[in-house]
Amino acid sequence: MEASLTARDRVGIQDFVLLDAYTSESAFLDNLRKRFHENLIYTYIGTLLVSVNPYKELDIYSKKQMDTYMGVNFFELPPHIYALADNVFRTMQSEFNNHFILISGESGAGKTEASKKILQFYAVSCPSTKLLNNVRDRLLLSNPVLEAFGNAKTLKNDNSSRFGKYMDIQFDHQGGAVGGHILSYLLEKSRVVHQNHGERNFHIFYQLVEGGEEDLLRWLGLERNCQHYSYLVQGGCAKVSSINDKSDWRMVQKALSVIEFNESDIEHLFGIIASVLHLGNIKFVADVRGYASLNNNQEMHWLLGIPAQVLQQGLTHRKIEAKAEEVFSPFSVDHAVYARDALAKAIYGRTFNWLVNKINESLANKDSSRKTVIGLLDIYGFEVFNVNSFEQFCINYCNEKLQQLFIQLTLKSEQEEYEMEGIEWEPVPYFNNKIICDLVEEKHRGIISLLDEECLRPGEATDLTLLEKMEETIGGHPHFVTHKLADQKTRKTLERGDFRLLHYAGEVTYCVVGFLDKNNDLLYRNGKEVMRQSKNAIIKHCFPSTEPDSKRRPETVVTQFKSSLVGLTEILMSKEPWYVRCIKPNEAKQPGRFDDVLVRHQVKYLGLMEHLRVRRAGFAYRRKYDIFLQRYKPLCPDTWPNWKGTAAEGVRCLIKHLGYKPDEYKMGRSKIFIRHPRTLFATEDAFQV
Ligand code: ATP
Ligand code: MG
Repeated sequence: MEASLTARDRVGIQDFVLLDAYTSESAFLDNLRKRFHENLIYTYIGTLLVSVNPYKELDIYSKKQMDTYMGVNFFELPPHIYALADNVFRTMQSEFNNHFILISGESGAGKTEASKKILQFYAVSCPSTKLLNNVRDRLLLSNPVLEAFGNAKTLKNDNSSRFGKYMDIQFDHQGGAVGGHILSYLLEKSRVVHQNHGERNFHIFYQLVEGGEEDLLRWLGLERNCQHYSYLVQGGCAKVSSINDKSDWRMVQKALSVIEFNESDIEHLFGIIASVLHLGNIKFVADVRGYASLNNNQEMHWLLGIPAQVLQQGLTHRKIEAKAEEVFSPFSVDHAVYARDALAKAIYGRTFNWLVNKINESLANKDSSRKTVIGLLDIYGFEVFNVNSFEQFCINYCNEKLQQLFIQLTLKSEQEEYEMEGIEWEPVPYFNNKIICDLVEEKHRGIISLLDEECLRPGEATDLTLLEKMEETIGGHPHFVTHKLADQKTRKTLERGDFRLLHYAGEVTYCVVGFLDKNNDLLYRNGKEVMRQSKNAIIKHCFPSTEPDSKRRPETVVTQFKSSLVGLTEILMSKEPWYVRCIKPNEAKQPGRFDDVLVRHQVKYLGLMEHLRVRRAGFAYRRKYDIFLQRYKPLCPDTWPNWKGTAAEGVRCLIKHLGYKPDEYKMGRSKIFIRHPRTLFATEDAFQV
């Protein structure tokens, strides 16, 4: 007895739900900390998995471990991401329905690593035939390619995903992974032309310069020296000790060939990456009239096979159509720099989308029979920097939406279901962040609407007029604060150009500077026209001549993002949810350090305590009477083979025979509710005998 108490004391409890005493935040934290120091990074809250980033390699992801977890009941082994993956897989197989796993947590908490582990588990452990092996390789190798182009070193994470990713893995009847599809969300394009101190551009640039073969670099006109490229050095850290650009380059090359990129695709792709670097080195000087002219011409030669003259004109002039005439109005130097950067961002952003499509072609399953899917969502976590801009605004808005989804699918729906089924229930209070979602996205008066309205007044509107408009329209909102309103609402004052949102996860102060510009994401029309003269096949594809011109206003960035999130919500709402909540134990990215304040904050905003309370008070499993009866009726002579009465009566008879104790289950109007999974597992086991 004493020995087991000590062990429990040392390693903590593997499922928070099981512990009567553990409902306070401090106790929760104690348990997490204890386990973390024993290298037990996973803990359950029912079927939700909490994962704490160990910041060191643990020997728990071998093939042997995968085999151990394959097909074993969820609670019979120590918590593991493989157990969750296996449970989702088996539920999908037995119920033949669709699922998604939402992986959330802040930057550096381990979301991408978790999603990779899940994918590996499916790729390695699911039943397979030889034919399918190449599908799995492609599924697995799509990762290094997307990471090379979409991840970068930031202050928070040396491999930070700078785009959101949703990936469907499709399974056939036998449970073999037969295909996949990726949706990407809002790539942080501004990084191509600007990086904050201590941060880098996207990995692929450094990989090419450091790892590219001599011939390739010569052919692309590149020097093997990152310092030479102005787009690579603004953060002052081209080299990072934790990153090996050379070996990553080789990995990406291998991956590209497996996902069926042919030689010409690869040539064109790296032609583009090199061109972006050359573009960044183009400098402008003011001519005698103060207009921009090109300082150096040598870079032009390398730019996508576009005639130097055309490019030069495109970078220093803007085309204005006046009646039937075309007039070229010259740029100032600042303007030319802006146009150059806009072009670089557009080229990279569109190439990234092309890449995702190309990967999707390779993952597509050609067979049209019905599949079930497991979706993996690895999307940017809530972000707070010293200075927060438009990008953080979009990212944090996305997190509000996902929290809302969690509330609707889990906290709220769970409680509503008990009520509907007439199960006695003490409601668990939770903060519903719908009020913040509305503040951002409500028609006419939400921040997005106000921002778009200001973007429609070029020449008149500025970032500051946007701020004024927000003050006027939503100044009274309890989750919105500006400089003017700061004193009345919070004690902390604000700078003039800032506004603060009280997000569900905490307060974030945004600097309004750049909001209009980034939302417009303006690319001058002649920028596009110049691109159309390129000989590069990918560029031709990304800048088609049929694209609607600036006469029709393109959707703003935030509005596009909002619609893509609506689409994502629809995709997720039709599936069964599972959650992995990732926690970052310290800011220093070091093993063995557990910062209580930091973790407590995450426990709070990840909604873990609310989830625990709902789980502890509720029931882990529920099944419609007819489904339950159908599955388990062979276990009871009275219900087998044909039960004549109603399904509910049949279930009553069945569980009496199985010996369920009164506190283990409840009978609702249409479903049976089972308090703990172990009851169901015991029933399953009886079934196997
Ligand atoms: P971002 O939002 O910035 O993309 P993230 O949540 O995706 O962050 P990851 O990139 O998954 O964070 O993790 C950051 C780093 O933490 C990894 O590069 C790795 O070094 C370490 N790490 C995360 N999870 C694990 C794990 N299970 N085992 C070992 N190391 C891990
Ligand atoms: Mg990530």
